[in-house]
Amino acid sequence: MSAPEGFPGTTKLFVRGALRRCPRCGSGHLFEHYFTIKEDCPRCGLHFEREHGYWVGALAWNIAIVMALFIVTFVVIMVLTVPDVPVGLSLLILVPIMLIGPIVFYPFSKTLWMALDYGFLQRISDST
Ligand SMILES: [Zn+2]
Repeated sequence: MSAPEGFPGTTKLFVRGALRRCPRCGSGHLFEHYFTIKEDCPRCGLHFEREHGYWVGALAWNIAIVMALFIVTFVVIMVLTVPDVPVGLSLLILVPIMLIGPIVFYPFSKTLWMALDYGFLQRISDST
């Protein structure tokens, strides 16, 4: 099944999400501040929060990505240092990932969630 005309395609959608851009038109400047997203896209007018509780998906993205980063880092530390694992140094690396990671990743999780949601919406509306 090929992408419908005008649809950015799955890869492009997720690249846009990873770059904090609008999933529909690719426009940037979606955030008023680091944590505050605008209500609509400044270029195409796409309304971001479609319903109450919409950002729960972004929360799931945030948790999943930060946990993946934690697990990969943990495994790399274990593989490189077993049997003499430096516990203090490991904590010095892993704890900040879990404390600062969700804050740093916060805006990206929103745009990645919008990309996923927009991709699903497009496919559903095209199939009906
Ligand atoms: Zn847009």
